[in-house]
Amino acid sequence: MTHLSDIEIARAAKKLPIQEIGAKLGIPAEALLPYGHDKAKVQQSFIKGLADRPDGKLILVTAINPTPAGEGKTTTTVGLGDGLRRIGKNAAVCIREASLGPCFGMKGGAAGGGRAQVVPMEDMNLHFTGDFHAITAAHNLLAAMIDNHIYWGNELGIDERRVSWRRVMDMNDRALRDIVVGLGGVSNGFPRQTGFDITVASEVMAILCLARDLDDLQERLGNIIVAYRRDRSPIYARDLKADGAMTVLLKDAMQPNLVQTLEHTPAFVHGGPFANIAHGCNSVIATTTALKLADYVVTEAGFGADLGAEKFFDIKCRKAGLRPDAVVLVATVRALKMNGGVAREDLGSENVKAVAAGCANLGRHIENLKQFGVPVVVAINHFTTDTEAEIAEVKEHARRHGSEAYLCRHWAEGSAGIEELATRVAEIADSGRAQFAPLYPDEMGLFEKIETIAKRIYRAGEVIADKKIRDQLRAWEAAGYGNLPICMAKTQYSFSTDPNLRGAPTGHTVPIREVRLSAGAGFVVVICGEIMTMPGLPRHPAAEAIHLNEAGEIEGLF
Ligand code: ADP
Ligand code: MG
Repeated sequence: MTHLSDIEIARAAKKLPIQEIGAKLGIPAEALLPYGHDKAKVQQSFIKGLADRPDGKLILVTAINPTPAGEGKTTTTVGLGDGLRRIGKNAAVCIREASLGPCFGMKGGAAGGGRAQVVPMEDMNLHFTGDFHAITAAHNLLAAMIDNHIYWGNELGIDERRVSWRRVMDMNDRALRDIVVGLGGVSNGFPRQTGFDITVASEVMAILCLARDLDDLQERLGNIIVAYRRDRSPIYARDLKADGAMTVLLKDAMQPNLVQTLEHTPAFVHGGPFANIAHGCNSVIATTTALKLADYVVTEAGFGADLGAEKFFDIKCRKAGLRPDAVVLVATVRALKMNGGVAREDLGSENVKAVAAGCANLGRHIENLKQFGVPVVVAINHFTTDTEAEIAEVKEHARRHGSEAYLCRHWAEGSAGIEELATRVAEIADSGRAQFAPLYPDEMGLFEKIETIAKRIYRAGEVIADKKIRDQLRAWEAAGYGNLPICMAKTQYSFSTDPNLRGAPTGHTVPIREVRLSAGAGFVVVICGEIMTMPGLPRHPAAEAIHLNEAGEIEGLF
């Protein structure tokens, strides 16, 4: 049905003025800070006044282990929001903002796809309301203050060899991964090795996304560890007196952005932390605000459920006191085939046997999600190449694993294609069946937490970490960080740490390569495998095809 590109569909959309979208949620026009006609920030003071209102139902959209193309979590989040509105519910959507890196690289847009998109998608994918630039500025202000402190005599005793705070930029630029700063002589400071990460990998991003309000934001910014002394004692952003100015730079960025879907459902698009070294969800403030204003809030967590949903529950929900009511697990026939051992080139042809084999992956995710006490429904995100026999196979497997699967055609048809799922999800959310609990208690030791995730979610046989890593974890426990949750960073393509190990592996080994403390965000990052915090561009970056046409419209963006 749909043969137009995402940007063509988005451009043809008849958008409502943003005040009308706000009105759907009862936000008065004066509480909106418009950025043009179709975007607005929701004012901090209005949000504060909502505290005593009851919360709506929270629905998480997650996915099975995906193919590199993505299986449609954002598309389904948007489609389900529209579907809930279609059946008469007061629903809103919460998703992440886009980074410029993938836009000009190859990943594709972050606004959904087909007839299930957030608009204006060009703006959302490019600059938007400037939040990421504010985060970049706040992060780099702190970096500048560190080198400046050393330059002016280093009163705090920073060990120049142990400055952990790097610089960031919202671009894929591999040439900046490792650099030397301070060259050029005495007046330029002390040369030292450092580097750039992409802005979405900044701890400031994770902090903005977990902070409850501006006070909490400043507190967390102050808690960032930027460097160590020769005696290994930490130096905090607060020691450099950077937290106040950073908060000033971030005060507008802290206010959630409101836009709309193609069908005029209110959509909060706010924050966008990496899903590997950070938790990969939109901001707490957007989600909590949406819950005060809508009866149903649909939100997304990055990557597959083993990473994204686990971190959504164990980091975001735990820390923000959120209690999700239902989970939608997105599955595609192509990703199931891939999990069933089919090569990427052969995903287009019917292969019921491979779908059946790949359903082991689906079943594992269903079992895992139930461990958090939240009911799970499967959304089969329909692709035109799917056959009836393949779809029947998925439905049967979902049933066998104690769940239920619905065929969803929101990508091609918009809300009309996802009514059945929307009706069922609303019923489940209303039933009060969910009994959410995180996977592990705060009090558990850090290494035991890692083992719990590895064994209960990844079904690994063991976690291996050398003495240095175990000692580091114990040192953090002694320093009072033992109650933090774990933020796992591993491949999203497998339950294991090997991206080629598909399906539902058991008994594998999870080797920990490195651990990092994000003391401001409030989690311990555990890195298993290669994690890139400054991506590079492909041989032919998407940027080569992006341009303005005669009408001044953007071409080549997805
Ligand atoms: P995720 O959030 O899981 O990474 P997205 O929702 O961003 O995935 O979708 C990834 C890409 O796949 C987008 O370009 C989107 O347009 C496309 N897509 C999603 N669902 C479908 C579908 N049912 N048919 C065809 N393309 C789809
Ligand atoms: Mg997405």
